[in-house]
Amino acid sequence: MNFNEYPIESLMYITNRPEIVFTHGKGSWLYDNTGKRYLDFIQGWAVNSLGHCNDGMIEALNTQAKLLLNPSPAFYNEPMAKLAGLLTQHSCFDKVFFANSGAEANEGAIKLARKWGKKFKDGAFEIITFDHSFHGRTIATMSASGKPGWDTIYAPQVPGFPKADLNDIASVEKLINAKTVAVMLEPIQGEGGVIPATKEFMQQLRELTKKHNLLLIVDEVQSGCGRAGTLFAYELSGIEPDIMTLGKGIGGGVPLAALLSKAEVAVFEAGDQGGTYNGNPLMTAVGYSVISQLTAPGFLEGVRARGEYLRSKLLELSAERGFKGERGEGLLRALLLDNDNGPLIVEKARDMQPDGLLLNAARPNLLRFMPALNVTNEEIDQMMTMLRSILDSL
Ligand SMILES: *Cc1c(COP(=O)(O)O)cnc(C)c1O
Repeated sequence: MNFNEYPIESLMYITNRPEIVFTHGKGSWLYDNTGKRYLDFIQGWAVNSLGHCNDGMIEALNTQAKLLLNPSPAFYNEPMAKLAGLLTQHSCFDKVFFANSGAEANEGAIKLARKWGKKFKDGAFEIITFDHSFHGRTIATMSASGKPGWDTIYAPQVPGFPKADLNDIASVEKLINAKTVAVMLEPIQGEGGVIPATKEFMQQLRELTKKHNLLLIVDEVQSGCGRAGTLFAYELSGIEPDIMTLGKGIGGGVPLAALLSKAEVAVFEAGDQGGTYNGNPLMTAVGYSVISQLTAPGFLEGVRARGEYLRSKLLELSAERGFKGERGEGLLRALLLDNDNGPLIVEKARDMQPDGLLLNAARPNLLRFMPALNVTNEEIDQMMTMLRSILDSL
């Protein structure tokens, strides 16, 4: 079908999109309406952990679709229980609540912390978050986010989210008062430009929050589910948070998210939390397939090896072109440019012929790479070749 034949004008405008309609995908490749293919190093924004149309996920979807779509959130179902069990088995958490999006999981984390504050901390409700953080697009999670400009778009904000500076423990300590109930952060700031919290900072945060009887909440919507080379990024610093949220990669491309907590923090009472689709069996069956594949013997070692390979290739390119190096963990990495050409490179890469390349510039001065976790070294080589030819053409 020709692009002009799609009724795109019926879609509400939210952002500028290229004049392409994607029709199908497999693994690291995505195909558009003209038959052109694209090497995909965005993967639905670090969502498609196993690439496009993974066989195991398709089978889980097909099998579950014939069994049960929705018994109602008021009842148990098998996939919801199995996935919760798998997550508690492979993490330091004891309790899981499923949601549909990262923002919704974070809303749940905020509510859980405020409830805990009401119960155990004299009504404390303030959650310290960080500059340049991203926690979602609901009004509360936008207020928790430290994205420049987000404090005014839909003003007034939800109060109670003072902002500290990442990797600066004094800036956190300064904000603690009698109303503080928790500290919430992304172990690796994703939208902020792939900025890891240091191991030392994570450990200092854990110590500080323990000392002041505060909850430590990690938003692992982007950094979790194998992306950082460990199942969850908090593992990299050897600490145990009280609450964690997951999204993106947990569903591998379907809308699924989760809120996890330690048993003693799971203080919701009947009616405090819910949602029509929480624990939906079709989505949790897919999530079960995804997490089973990520935790299969050798898989995460492979992610670490491919992350290391990508890292070495980016460093090579950086040295060759006089760029500013790279940063990240596992298969969430950024190449630091020496200019603001990021958006231009992204556009040129997409429009390249015969094959396109999908990249993201989380900030104008860097390129973010979030390929499928089962990307091959050959595909990484292919991406590097394409990227070099774009840089040559600038
Ligand atoms: C994407 C993202 C969210 C929001 O997830 P949605 O599913 O878009 O609501 C929250 N936190 C982080 C760290 C993210 O990367």
